[in-house]
Amino acid sequence: MKWITHQTAAVGAALALHLPPVGVAAACLGAVVPDMLDQRVARLAPTPSGRQRMFNRIHRGTTHWFGWWLALFLAALALPLAPPAKALLSGLAFGGLSHVLLDMLTPQGVPWHPFSRKGRFSFKLCTTGSIGEYCFLALLLAAIWFFLRYDALALLRRVADGRVF
Ligand SMILES: [Zn+2]
Repeated sequence: MKWITHQTAAVGAALALHLPPVGVAAACLGAVVPDMLDQRVARLAPTPSGRQRMFNRIHRGTTHWFGWWLALFLAALALPLAPPAKALLSGLAFGGLSHVLLDMLTPQGVPWHPFSRKGRFSFKLCTTGSIGEYCFLALLLAAIWFFLRYDALALLRRVADGRVF
């Protein structure tokens, strides 16, 4: 999935769950963190072609295992953190979890096991960057407009009032 689709879905889900503004922003960032981590690791290779090979080898590996993100999300909820840290961490983990769920819709799928590339899970609904993905994105935007526009307005009002946590 494209980052715009990941971020739209994460923001929509965070709005639906009434996360605080910082949580929604963190979810928007968390929605692309699994791919950012893969890119960051691939950059350790010395040459551009090596980087591409490294990326192809590791992409959608352990960073795309749902268990890490679920554990981080539950830990953020359970730990006695200050409200800003709780909003930030839970939002970030929620975004990461939504990323993995969305990548499940594509043929490449996500791993069942955190350290093995064998046995992947996929609904094979649409390929990244395909017309199918853009239809999915359009549906997401329509659903956000239809169901969540007042939640989005309430969120903006909270930001304007300075109640961001
Ligand atoms: Zn991904």
